[in-house]
Amino acid sequence: MNKEKLNEAVRSRRTFAIISHPDAGKTTITEQMLLLGGVVRQAGTVKGRKTGKFATSDWMEIEKQRGISVTSSVMQFDYNGKRINILDTPGHEDFSEDTYRTLMAVDSAIMVIDSAKGIEPQTKKLFQICKMRGIPIFTFMNKLDRDGREPLDLLAELEDVLGVETYPMNWPIGMGKGLQGLYDRYNQQVALYHPDADGQQYLPLNEDGDIAEENSLHQESIWRDTLDEIDLINAAGNELDQEKIKTGDLTPVFFGSALANFGVETFLKTYLDYAPQPAEHETKSNRFVEPTDEIFSGFVFKIQANMDPKHRDRIAFVRICSGTFERGMDVSLQRTDKKLRLSNSTQFMAEERENVQTAVAGDIIGLYDTGNFQIGDTIYTGKEAIQFQDLPQFTPELFVRVNAKNVMKQKSFHKGIQQLVQEGAVQLFRSYTANDYILGAVGQLQFEVFEFRMKNEYNSEVTMEPLGSKIARWIDPEQLDEKMASSRNILVKDSHDMPLFLFENQFSENWFIQKYPDVKLAAKL
Ligand code: GDP
Repeated sequence: MNKEKLNEAVRSRRTFAIISHPDAGKTTITEQMLLLGGVVRQAGTVKGRKTGKFATSDWMEIEKQRGISVTSSVMQFDYNGKRINILDTPGHEDFSEDTYRTLMAVDSAIMVIDSAKGIEPQTKKLFQICKMRGIPIFTFMNKLDRDGREPLDLLAELEDVLGVETYPMNWPIGMGKGLQGLYDRYNQQVALYHPDADGQQYLPLNEDGDIAEENSLHQESIWRDTLDEIDLINAAGNELDQEKIKTGDLTPVFFGSALANFGVETFLKTYLDYAPQPAEHETKSNRFVEPTDEIFSGFVFKIQANMDPKHRDRIAFVRICSGTFERGMDVSLQRTDKKLRLSNSTQFMAEERENVQTAVAGDIIGLYDTGNFQIGDTIYTGKEAIQFQDLPQFTPELFVRVNAKNVMKQKSFHKGIQQLVQEGAVQLFRSYTANDYILGAVGQLQFEVFEFRMKNEYNSEVTMEPLGSKIARWIDPEQLDEKMASSRNILVKDSHDMPLFLFENQFSENWFIQKYPDVKLAAKL
């Protein structure tokens, strides 16, 4: 691909994740977007897949068996001159470190919130990771066709709980059964809500931000109320500050209904105006790799094993950071300094896996892996070695003590643990004195996947004793006295032999701090 073509291709890429608490409507809005992109033709396709009705390949069979969304982890389609990559971040029981790491591979995020519920725990966790990365976050306040909370109240909650400024791009005219439409501040029009009509009707706004008097809506009291609220947010609300959007300090908010497909198209179009194209990536030697650099580079952010039970394959998901990927190209793997030929690769479409021909920065490719890759690995072409920054390790919150069921099978047990830990499936700790194996995770699913894979891939059945949720706090080895440990704060060491306490709860941590005021505790190593 010549330079000009590469520039153009990179400019068209939009790579993002949709984050939400379970049931807020992430699947529904994703599906509406796929419909807009012409990828699926029928509503309910994605939904069906989620419940397992859409199983058409072995891969999906696995998805069904394990209840993990695998196929839909990357969806690519074209819309309005842009090539969109949506990376799935599963919610509820699927919640894991994978979910967090996926956010390392996107350039922006859409946060879907149920307008009746406001911010829920999972939204908050995911939002914090996006904030840490400083990527733009756009909010879709969903389910406007149902009675929800007051819009002003919802915005205040976003600002208070998440510590982010808000800018409503549109404003609901009524809600639930009384929903009449959306006052679109950004496009200066009113979108009328007619749930049964085909197509969308719009009314233009005049210079005063009002609609023409002959419209029946003009006579209704709800219209007066809406104008009052618009006056209020114009006067007291934040400015639409592009810089703040870029850094994730201000979130544009869109109201709508994913199910009624109301406000989704305008949202997607406006979002694509603002969502950034792939940005540069910093290396460990503080060099910035530009997406339009000719050398190819990318990093592995996820490894998924056993996608196809017949082949026992693993797929390493690579986010491309620069250059052009071509099938069969030779790359260097930074960690081992080995050369690899990338002949067997796949790109992700909504309906099926397709063999990828070329891909550029922002795109995600799947590489069939025979054990070469680890999470966080950098691959590149060219003479100069590139190593991107490490992916962050997340402080685990859930713990189990794990043992081999059959003591005669210690060897496969150790091998399995070692490999799965390397892959980033779970985090490994040892109890300080007895050397028991303790696994840490951010989501329960990680343990289930661990157990399943130990049995299927390493022929090692395990027993897992749940230790429940704990607060992990590292302690300086110099300050450590083993007598500080108790049943309320278990002393363990991490994979680098660094000591940490697993506190039973906030109360026991506070108690510890009072008892040992000079001891410093850290949430991260
Ligand atoms: P996810 O768990 O975030 O993927 O949520 P889903 O997209 O599966 O939606 C959860 C439930 O909310 C489903 O029953 C949807 O039909 C429903 N839902 C999604 N969007 C809307 C909406 O805009 N209005 C209403 N009334 N229901 C919705």
